[in-house]
Amino acid sequence: MQMKAKNHLSDIAVSLAGRVAQGARPRTPKIHLIRNGSIDQLLVVNGSRLYEIPTDLATKIDSVVETGDDEALSQILVDIGLEAPLAIDDQPLESPSVHALSLAIAQKCNLGCSYCYAQQGDFGTAAKNMPLETAIEAVDMLLKGVPKGSRVNLAFLGGEPLANRKVLRQTTEYAAKQAEVAGVEIGYSITTNGTLLTEEDGLFFENYGFAVTISLDGVEDVHNRLRPFKSGAGSFEHIMSRVKFLLTLQKKMQVSARVTVTPQNMNLPQTLDYFIAAGFHSVGFSPLLHASNSQNEMTQTDLTEMLAAMISCGLAFEQQVLQGRRYPFLNMVNALRELHRGTHRPYPCGAGAGYLGVSADGDLAACHRFVGDPVGDMGSLKTGIDLKKQNSWLASRHVHHQEPCKSCWARYLCGGGCHHEVIARGRTACDFIRGWLHYTIQAYGRLSELVPDWFQNETSNKERQSLRSEVS
Ligand code: SF4
Ligand code: SF4
Repeated sequence: MQMKAKNHLSDIAVSLAGRVAQGARPRTPKIHLIRNGSIDQLLVVNGSRLYEIPTDLATKIDSVVETGDDEALSQILVDIGLEAPLAIDDQPLESPSVHALSLAIAQKCNLGCSYCYAQQGDFGTAAKNMPLETAIEAVDMLLKGVPKGSRVNLAFLGGEPLANRKVLRQTTEYAAKQAEVAGVEIGYSITTNGTLLTEEDGLFFENYGFAVTISLDGVEDVHNRLRPFKSGAGSFEHIMSRVKFLLTLQKKMQVSARVTVTPQNMNLPQTLDYFIAAGFHSVGFSPLLHASNSQNEMTQTDLTEMLAAMISCGLAFEQQVLQGRRYPFLNMVNALRELHRGTHRPYPCGAGAGYLGVSADGDLAACHRFVGDPVGDMGSLKTGIDLKKQNSWLASRHVHHQEPCKSCWARYLCGGGCHHEVIARGRTACDFIRGWLHYTIQAYGRLSELVPDWFQNETSNKERQSLRSEVS
């Protein structure tokens, strides 16, 4: 019976995805109209303001948009009181202070994932660990001059960060002490392949309240094909047996699953259900748009299929939330949260701004994926942030200077797409991004009407989560 219901949801999602794709196409940079048949929605792009509007007004706006008459559209916005000063101008951020660092604490890995952005963990150089002195310098840089009472985030990535466990722990202990002295709140996160986890690691992460993300690409065989050990052996059972203990702790610590989606693991509803049932705090999906060896990258056709699968997961989320149940589908939770608070931003993330990556050698990069890549070079711990490079990055990466973003209705919710993927492969995922936003705006309309309390509870967590989500 359950299986039948799930299949039914997938069928609805496929048909809905077609309509969503049609409705999400870019028509005007000023607004986006969502025709629902009953209550229509209007997104005013400037300021990401979302309104429910009567059908006759929606029809009027629709026909003006169709003619391409920008002045007439502006006049309608004036007439209905929605014209407002620009929330985001052309001015780029300049020398922003850093509040999040990720340390490539181990530039080595024991898995042989086919698509790894870090070229099997070593970023194309000799495998190495970050020395403790370098990690300490990074912590000092993170905490330097941070005002009392503010919050910073320290992330451990790799390669596989647990390959350098001793330095990871010593760095955490040092950071905790220094943050206490400085009166600064500090959050910790780690993204790990899970193969080296021990119970002692679990207790350590719980004690320091880590956000732990485990990279898992599906259930059993699917995961094993994509994320085998270097020997070729499957890693799924091995990882799940180690993660089990962490899943039972989760008081201060949160353990999430992150799924990189390739053409080989597109059964997202099954994956989502499995990991939620296993006890993960949340489960998130991210399409593989760029791999260092181009293997398994998603094509436009794959992304169309993925949109339908995401919508299927979204519909399951809506059902569960309506029944008062927790269903931690991270992409959906984040999208609803951002719509609720009217997120509008000129960049997709904090990379090269409030967030930087640090290589094992102490070089600074725009983010963890740019470690060792001259394109995202931001100086070094020894010489400090290269302000000229940072400011030129921020000027050129502003969404108003990106094509075709500056005329896309999704620009202040999307921010222009992950810099790393866009620089390497261009903007292949725009229809997917817009389609997902279109669907989540519709879902927002439904849920904010039917379960407004859900938003009250979710937004109380948002500040904590927003720092974490920068380290994506
Ligand atoms: S990257 Fe985002 S903002 Fe830019 S065109 Fe694509 S969907 Fe629009
Ligand atoms: S979205 Fe892309 S550029 Fe931004 S932090 Fe994540 S990987 Fe780096």
